[in-house]
Amino acid sequence: MLESKVLIIGAGPSGITASIYLKRSNIPFILLEKYMVGGKLSLTSSIENYPGFKQEDGVQLALKMQDQLNYNNIEVTYDEIVSLKKEGNYFFLKGKEDNYKGEFVIVASGTKEKRLFLNHEDKYLGHGISFCAICDGALYKNKEVAIVGGGNSALEEALYLSSICQKVYIVHRRDKFKADAQLVSKVKQKANIKLFTPYVIINYIGDKHLSGIEIENVETKQKEKILVVGLFMYIGLEPNAKFIEEDIILEDGFIKTDMNMESSINNLFAVGDIKVKTLRQVVTATNDGAIAATIIKKRLEE
Ligand code: NAP
Repeated sequence: MLESKVLIIGAGPSGITASIYLKRSNIPFILLEKYMVGGKLSLTSSIENYPGFKQEDGVQLALKMQDQLNYNNIEVTYDEIVSLKKEGNYFFLKGKEDNYKGEFVIVASGTKEKRLFLNHEDKYLGHGISFCAICDGALYKNKEVAIVGGGNSALEEALYLSSICQKVYIVHRRDKFKADAQLVSKVKQKANIKLFTPYVIINYIGDKHLSGIEIENVETKQKEKILVVGLFMYIGLEPNAKFIEEDIILEDGFIKTDMNMESSINNLFAVGDIKVKTLRQVVTATNDGAIAATIIKKRLEE
């Protein structure tokens, strides 16, 4: 079992920020990550609203964060946490590789992509259905693809795909978009992006690999088939909080915290996309990580 004062679960922007603040205060911690440094950032094509960066690829910004970890001599421990329990004053984490003990935990485990769960969806996962344009976009070079969703992710990734693919269809269930107005206007100006609103997908078409989707107009009920070999699902996110076995206050699965990022359990903090908040972005994630680490520092000084 590995033991430290603070255990940070997740090395996305919030967990990374918390670790930098703790390091600068000489507070011992273990930074745990199951997949790769940067979290969702590494899967984002372009970031344009993070101060100091007019426009940056998500991967590049994630690499810069990794560089900052190296500069601060912060090591990342690669493990997937499967359970979190509190006994007395200590937290115990069970990972797939090792177990961990700490006095404080910062949960920075983020979110995962929601799915439509239509008939035969499983069959097309990895065979036409994808959740990451930046990872899989190149597979569809010069081909026709669709995106479902109307938020920032859907529209940003549609723009990215429009530079690789011949045509991109956006299927969104409302006429109004949840995405930022600037993004909507950029998308509308792209000649090879076609919008289908208000439409929903009702069927997948294809044998072993997706070859099309059937969509239905929400108002007129008119059905249409679009021949696409790729479908990118960007219909929102769900929290990665299932490993927490404690009786913690959640809202729709997201962790509720106070203004200090502390959950309903003493010394258990939640930062970034995993917590209940109004805005899930890199800039708000870094804010959360900084606050949690600062509160832990103050508590240790008391
Ligand atoms: P989101 O903002 O929650 O948008 C999800 C979209 O999917 C909405 O348009 C929603 O439609 C649609 N949707 C949800 N369930 C659906 C279903 N069952 N069938 C069809 N459509 C469905 O999710 P996101 O775009 O992944 O973004 C997540 C968070 O990250 C947001 O807070 C977003 O602002 C943030 N983000 C920020 C940036 C940036 O600032 N650069 C980039 C990416 C993401 P309705 O509109 O009808 O609800």
